[in-house]
Amino acid sequence: MSFKKNEIVDFDIVIIGSGPVGIAFASAFSNSKIKIAIIDKMPKRIISNPKVDGREIALTHNSVSFLKKIGVWKNIPKKFISEIKEARVLDGISNYFLNFKHFEIQKECLGYLIPNYLIKKYLFKKIEKISNVNLITGVECSSIKTDEKKFSTIQLSNGKKVTTSMVVAADSRFSKTRKAMGISAFVHDFSKNMIVCRMEHEKSHKNIAYEYFRYQQTQALLPYKNNQSSIVTTASKNETSNLMKLSEKEFNYHMQNNFNYSFGKMKLKGKRYCYPMVTTYSKSFISSRFALIGDAAVGMHPVTAHGFNLNLQGIEILTNEIKLALKNKEDIGSQKILRRYQIKLHKVAIPLYLATNGIVSLYTNNFFPAKVARQVILRMVNLIKPVKKTFLHALK
Ligand SMILES: Cc1cc2nc3c(=O)[nH]c(=O)nc-3n(C[C@H](O)[C@H](O)[C@H](O)COP(=O)(O)OP(=O)(O)OC[C@H]3O[C@@H](n4cnc5c(N)ncnc54)[C@H](O)[C@@H]3O)c2cc1C
Repeated sequence: MSFKKNEIVDFDIVIIGSGPVGIAFASAFSNSKIKIAIIDKMPKRIISNPKVDGREIALTHNSVSFLKKIGVWKNIPKKFISEIKEARVLDGISNYFLNFKHFEIQKECLGYLIPNYLIKKYLFKKIEKISNVNLITGVECSSIKTDEKKFSTIQLSNGKKVTTSMVVAADSRFSKTRKAMGISAFVHDFSKNMIVCRMEHEKSHKNIAYEYFRYQQTQALLPYKNNQSSIVTTASKNETSNLMKLSEKEFNYHMQNNFNYSFGKMKLKGKRYCYPMVTTYSKSFISSRFALIGDAAVGMHPVTAHGFNLNLQGIEILTNEIKLALKNKEDIGSQKILRRYQIKLHKVAIPLYLATNGIVSLYTNNFFPAKVARQVILRMVNLIKPVKKTFLHALK
């Protein structure tokens, strides 16, 4: 979008961050008269052509329904989407596993696996076609001034200004905007890294996802197409640094050994990507004419694959509140609407966030009582129906 000299453009909503969450949120307002701007510090050529980042996103049925509703799911070719039929969780060296099967949730699969860069690509394709959404790229937001009774004014790093009824920040778990608005976050640094990569293997995964909580590292195999899987390894910074330095041949050997040749010989496809394991939970999701969405609100540990799924739930809550306000001819940036969003998101986010952090802490603890508890919990979840039902509910 280009500005005329000294022009101050007004929008109903300004979204900061054009990651998958920022774009999905804007897409929810296609076919409406809401005037939206998305601001991102990255240039358009990078946003429009996202690079492979190693992340393969496990999507729940709820998330797929949302992507269908905003008209994105139907555009993603089926050849890129894999079905997860079953999930197995194993602890230490024991062969006992906790399992979840698709028929337990009365669906044809537990969820779907799709590379993150493709979600971003097809979300961008959608946004490009929406006339009420304007993309302002290659700029940051230098300051936000809010007049509670009227609007917010955003000063951009290119010297231009925009005004809006509501600012929505989706600028990652390390959100600069959150900080600029004076909102702090609970930050949990696990002092570990996660390596993600795609590997091909001789034996079929049979569309089963595996999570191995070993004593020194956690490893997951997420089933993709054609005997390929996403391999996710969480370990200490030292160990991950050594794994990143291994030659391809050494890495392949290490991985097939780690999986005890359960999938036969394994071969790296593409690069390895390393992410630091830091989770964040914002102390408030709102401020005056301001809301946080996506990882900027809650940055989950990826081990339970809930991050983006929770982000979409948050978007749906905020979208519904805004649409209701419009129907009632109310101010969309009012505290009444924002507070309702905050209460509803907190209610779904806090149990997931605490449970996920708790699982990670327990299943990476090598202390003897913790090892016993790990085994007991797997059996309890498997055997006690109401407990298992609670876990299955999160997959719907
Ligand atoms: C290894 C890994 C595996 C994962 N697997 C899963 C999974 O299986 N299932 C699941 O549900 N979730 C998963 N997640 C989580 C998921 O990837 C994130 O929740 C999701 O990508 C968050 O999207 P976002 O748009 O909020 O943030 P981001 O993707 O971080 O995007 C932020 C955007 O904001 C922009 N930006 C940043 N700062 C500024 C600024 N100052 N001004 C303007 N723009 C700015 C950036 O350029 C970027 O475009 C995984 C995460 C990781 C790391």
